[in-house]
Amino acid sequence: MKKTKLVIIGSGPAGYTASIYTSRSNIQTILVEGFKSGPIGGQLMTTTLVENFPGFQDGIMGPVLMANMKKQALKFNTEAIEDDVISLNLSSHPYIVNLSKDKIETKAIIIATGSIARKLDIEGTEKFWQKGVSTCAVCDGASYLFRNQDIFVIGGGDSAMEEALFLTKFASKVHIVHRRDTFKASKILAERVMKNKKIDIFWNTELIKILGDDFVKELTLKNNKTNKEFNMKARGVFFAIGHIPNTKFLEGQLPLDSNGCIITEKKSSKTEKEGVFAAGDVSDPIYKQAIVAAGYGCIAAIDAERWLSKKGYI
Ligand code: NAP
Repeated sequence: MKKTKLVIIGSGPAGYTASIYTSRSNIQTILVEGFKSGPIGGQLMTTTLVENFPGFQDGIMGPVLMANMKKQALKFNTEAIEDDVISLNLSSHPYIVNLSKDKIETKAIIIATGSIARKLDIEGTEKFWQKGVSTCAVCDGASYLFRNQDIFVIGGGDSAMEEALFLTKFASKVHIVHRRDTFKASKILAERVMKNKKIDIFWNTELIKILGDDFVKELTLKNNKTNKEFNMKARGVFFAIGHIPNTKFLEGQLPLDSNGCIITEKKSSKTEKEGVFAAGDVSDPIYKQAIVAAGYGCIAAIDAERWLSKKGYI
């Protein structure tokens, strides 16, 4: 069994930023990068050009950004382990982190396991992923590929409303496809959408198939009241049907909110358990941006450092 002062779980912007801060402060840090719940490096590993991460005037490819973050963390002596956390034992201190091949005893933990954007498991989702299919309008919507085109947003929650409104800046028309006849979204956002002349809404409608050649060209939709299928010309499809935070390994040891996110104390990364902190999308149901996750990684690192110091562990 390994022993350390701090274990960081997760290798997205939150995890790497936290480890840059803690290892640079000479806190013995092990970063468990995972691999089963998603690629090492997190969601940015599946994107192309990231144009809204400050400091990269011409944009930077998502996988390159994550590789650079990892190099920066390793430079300050973070020990990175390519394994998944199977479970945590938070019932006594020091805490135990159970990996698939080893165990780690640690004084503090930062959970930065992110979340997975839900996608519809239908024909075309995987084939056209990042070729017209996306789960993040803020990340991908401004691409020249979507300018003055017909874009579809799937979902009826606040995210779908925000994505649709954002996409009106670029698209010729934004079509919302929602499976029911009322939105789940807050009234204010729903009203803004319904007043926007660039947006039309397909109520009681489901996306059945995504068609195209090397890029999305057409969608098959179905009205679930009449069961009639019809095709629409399309250049892009943005899924806004919720996120699934990666918290399975917690097995109920920390309280989660109604979105499945770890609950943290306001304006901090502190969870209900002393010495256990959370950062990034795993505790953020609202913003879900790499730069926000990185910021929270920094907050968690500072919270963890102060806690370890207060307890006399460092
Ligand atoms: P959400 O509120 O869970 O909404 C998901 C939407 O996707 C729902 O309309 C749902 O349909 C639909 N959906 C789910 N699974 C589907 C499927 N298999 N096929 C078709 N449609 C499906 O998720 P969210 O919009 O990402 O919001 C998450 C949280 O963040 C919420 O608490 C939200 O208020 C918050 N948020 C707030 C803001 C803001 O305040 N500015 C912005 C974004 C998010 P049904 O309606 O039929 O269930």
